[in-house]
Amino acid sequence: MIKTQAYAAYSATTPLAPWSFERRDLGPHDVQIQILFCGVCHSDLHTVRSEWPGTVYPMVPGHEIVGRVTAVGAGVSSFKVGDLAAVGCLVDSCQHCASCAEGLEQYCENGFIGTYGGVEKETGQPTRGGYSERIIVTEKFVLHLSDKLDPAAAAPLLCAGITTYAPLRHWNAGPGKKVAVVGLGGLGHMAVKIAHALGAHVTVLSQSLKKQEDGLRLGADEYFATSDPGTFEQLAGRFDLIVNTVSAAIDLDAYLGLLAVDGTLVNVGAPADPLSVNVFSLIGGRRSFAGSMIGGIALTQEMLDFCAQHGIGAEVEVISADMVNEAYERVLASDVRYRFVIDTSTLA
Ligand code: NAP
Ligand code: ZN
Repeated sequence: MIKTQAYAAYSATTPLAPWSFERRDLGPHDVQIQILFCGVCHSDLHTVRSEWPGTVYPMVPGHEIVGRVTAVGAGVSSFKVGDLAAVGCLVDSCQHCASCAEGLEQYCENGFIGTYGGVEKETGQPTRGGYSERIIVTEKFVLHLSDKLDPAAAAPLLCAGITTYAPLRHWNAGPGKKVAVVGLGGLGHMAVKIAHALGAHVTVLSQSLKKQEDGLRLGADEYFATSDPGTFEQLAGRFDLIVNTVSAAIDLDAYLGLLAVDGTLVNVGAPADPLSVNVFSLIGGRRSFAGSMIGGIALTQEMLDFCAQHGIGAEVEVISADMVNEAYERVLASDVRYRFVIDTSTLA
């Protein structure tokens, strides 16, 4: 067992604080990673604050992990000590159901094992995430990271990047396609960069015009404020694909009205409260309302390689571990430009 320093949530209502726990011993197929940086995803906040069911405390959040390999098991062939490596939201799955066979481990029929809040196959203990010094993960769920990318800026690709890349690819965002991104936060700003790199025409729909300059710099062609009712009149019937990244409930019918015939609104934002849809918003234009969750391991590697090739990283504000509670407050206030990333060397 390897003693590991971390930042943990002790309850839904108290600030995160230092904690230490033991990582499992290295198995033959395991890769041990010294974590360099870990992004702060809004899902960490939903989980820490028990907005989603099932949080067991103390819990260590963090699923946007970049680090260096410090040890490998005897059966590991694709990583060696010193390599850069990355871990996203998944650390294992059953690896034999139809979804896993298709590379859709996030939809594992027997339940994927999340990087935090899951149950570790090897020990039966809760999985603990990347707000920690090191992690041990089975080789199949470890990603290769190019040294062309700044490691701090690459960390958010492991959740915000893949969560937006997957639907953009699935619904064929590319040249000739009009894509709208709702919410310019962690996921939203990655969606803008990736959709732009894929060649789509990109529009940001944000609550205000406060971040307009940034949005256009990141690759948006157009930028509108959703607080202005004129936006919904002006853009009616416009988009082939809308990616909704908002962490709270929005008026879906208003946004569905912005879709062209056969357009799709895909929700990646995951508010706890149910959303309502008037079916006439769908029937009118044979429109679809869909959801998408992170992405499988092969697609995550494809996304990391795509981002390295296009020089795409997140816009990050690097923080020390003791600033994480302050960072949470700013995420809740939509005051994040555009991802907080913890420098995990500050944990020691
Ligand atoms: P974030 O950085 O906080 O960004 C969310 C953005 O949504 C904000 O920056 C804000 O953008 C907008 N927003 C926030 N509250 C709003 C409100 N009440 N009304 C309208 N817009 C609002 O969060 P994130 O890390 O990108 O995560 C976004 C959501 O995706 C979370 O619910 C998270 O759990 C979920 N998520 C899902 C998956 C998946 O697999 N599906 C993966 C990761 C995260 P503006 O200021 O531009 O309006
Ligand atoms: Zn996430």
